[in-house]
Amino acid sequence: MLKVKCFVCNSFYENSYVVYDSNTKECAIIDAGFYYADEEDAVSYFIESNNLIVKHLINTHLHLDHCFGAEYISKRYNVGLSCDDADELLLKLIPQQCEMFGIRLNSSVPVLKNIIKEGDKVEIGNYSLVAISVPGHSPGSLCYYCKEEGILFSGDVLFKESIGRTDLQGGSYKALSENISSKIFTLPDSTIVYCGHGPTTTIGYEKEYNPYF
Ligand SMILES: [Zn+2]
Repeated sequence: MLKVKCFVCNSFYENSYVVYDSNTKECAIIDAGFYYADEEDAVSYFIESNNLIVKHLINTHLHLDHCFGAEYISKRYNVGLSCDDADELLLKLIPQQCEMFGIRLNSSVPVLKNIIKEGDKVEIGNYSLVAISVPGHSPGSLCYYCKEEGILFSGDVLFKESIGRTDLQGGSYKALSENISSKIFTLPDSTIVYCGHGPTTTIGYEKEYNPYF
């Protein structure tokens, strides 16, 4: 079974996920936002007490709140950060964004090691997540879809009754709304959506109640 554990992290209440195959124990960490020591400890305790094997550190996009824990996970579990390289330019902006938000940057800026593009598969034990490119919140935003389990990790593309902001670098409201309509709302209504912030939702619920559509 593919299981999902959510950790709400940092001052942005960002959702970091550990996704794991309960049989093979392989896992992927999606959007490592672990900032405080107790957040790092919580995820490490979860991984290590469940004997999970960290195979991937993947990001939906590279905004700072989704990246604070990337260096910690990278070093502790010897995995490189993977994301669409259309977002790589955002990494350079992290120090100035931290300054803007009054946040102390307590690790080095992460380095993008592996590039994920539309259609690429991330294998987790007997399951795979397929990357769907959904630019608009950021230039390289990806969602990760597991067809056999009917789940989607939407990052900051789609939230319960909302969508990602489009006023940041490389954002586009037109692109985001068109991409959600054509690439995300075409998934089955029953698909469970794990968002980058806030509660979980479904595609069917959002098609009916999301005020942006
Ligand atoms: Zn974001």
